[in-house]
Amino acid sequence: MNIMKEDQKKIEQLLTNVVTHSTNFFNELDSRPVAIQYYQPSKDQLPELGIGANQTLDYFVQHYSNGLSASAGARYLGFITGGATPASIMGDWLASVYDQNVSSSQDSVAGTLETETLDMLKELLKLDTNYSGTFVSGATMSNFVGLAQARQWAAHHYGKDLTLEGLFAIPSIKLISGAPHSSIFKAASMLGMGRNSIHLIPCQENQEAININLLKEFLEQNKYEPCIVIANAGTVNTVDYDDLIAIGKLKKQYNFWLHIDAAFGGFAACSPLYDHLVAGINKADSITIDAHKWLNVPYDSAMQFTRHKSLQVEVFQNNAAYLGSSIDHPDFFDLTPENSRRFRALPAWFTLKAYGKEGYQTLIEENVTCAKNLEKKIINSEYFELLAPVNLNVVCFTLKQESVTAEMIKQFLATLNQQGDVFMTPTIYNGVSAIRAAFSNWRTESKDVEIIWKSLLHAVLLKKS
Ligand SMILES: *Cc1c(COP(=O)(O)O)cnc(C)c1O
Repeated sequence: MNIMKEDQKKIEQLLTNVVTHSTNFFNELDSRPVAIQYYQPSKDQLPELGIGANQTLDYFVQHYSNGLSASAGARYLGFITGGATPASIMGDWLASVYDQNVSSSQDSVAGTLETETLDMLKELLKLDTNYSGTFVSGATMSNFVGLAQARQWAAHHYGKDLTLEGLFAIPSIKLISGAPHSSIFKAASMLGMGRNSIHLIPCQENQEAININLLKEFLEQNKYEPCIVIANAGTVNTVDYDDLIAIGKLKKQYNFWLHIDAAFGGFAACSPLYDHLVAGINKADSITIDAHKWLNVPYDSAMQFTRHKSLQVEVFQNNAAYLGSSIDHPDFFDLTPENSRRFRALPAWFTLKAYGKEGYQTLIEENVTCAKNLEKKIINSEYFELLAPVNLNVVCFTLKQESVTAEMIKQFLATLNQQGDVFMTPTIYNGVSAIRAAFSNWRTESKDVEIIWKSLLHAVLLKKS
């Protein structure tokens, strides 16, 4: 018996079972533990004879589903995790059903839909229409693609083609940033430029925004070299923004590539209350925006925007006779590290169509309101101390006591996260061991902030007793 073919005959029943399981999951999402820290399933083995799709679903639900976190839910405040809107889940399911390979646009309309989705995103995020865009798997990959173009641009300055001659052909390239995300260091490593090539310029006092005067000084001292400036639009601790307008002005005077990491901070553009934060973003040569964070589509999805598609093609071109590609007509596999690509634009397209500008404005504003509610409670609390004013959707705070250590934060978070009402992650801000609470899920409401606050108080009082 061919089990795959038997399963296909039952496809409606199989998918219906998935719908039932999914619906159950959503119905209990609010009450399941937000994070699961200890869960040891029995080790699975590859069966000689498969058990079929239906039994596999039962087995999965029984053995694994209780070990999965409620990161899709309202009170998972670790990292910047986002959520998945109902329409985006529909699009994601259908991406699997249609199973298109969007490496090229030769055999289906999927490529056209990707381009259309990127156009809608440019409008949502107030980016110039003449940016060229591509979907990638995450902001790390988007930073990688942006900096790969920057590297090629720098090589041209020396009259070299790095894609042919390699990095050894040119002097080392200076990357400059104030408070870059860890993935920038990773990208520098992957690109062979090295983590040490990143020069950190001090930030403004008590901020994570680069000190513009010091940046200018650095550029002046290095004005005969092509530099790469990595500006930040939304840092992970305090959601601080570099002064993008001022950096844009420096571009008139100095020769540098401007890459802006706006992974989640770019979504400030969705609200007239906060869009001033991203003013100047259109001065960028390349821009990183995540989709699986504040666009609230399922993992894994992000966008890369550039003003230099030709450099992008120089780096990533994948010319091969059997693929029918040509450098004069670059296709998707000429633009990013991947060749074969999932129909990643579909979940984004679904959610943009379904909820529009108004939907995203509401999502962003509600998340910020929740962050500010929590901020207020912390300011008035005898147990916690706010470390920086809430700029947008992240609350950065610590325990109110003498010399808080990383170990104390770790223990407190272990207690808090164990309670299962909320999940938060640690950080260090201004040298102080701290806690981050990041709001980025469409589900989160004020009533969740009340539950979160109760849980924080409970954890702190447990520690004291
Ligand atoms: C999350 C994040 C990244 C990395 O994104 P991934 O999608 O996890 O690869 C990069 N930069 C910033 C500012 C981020 O918040």
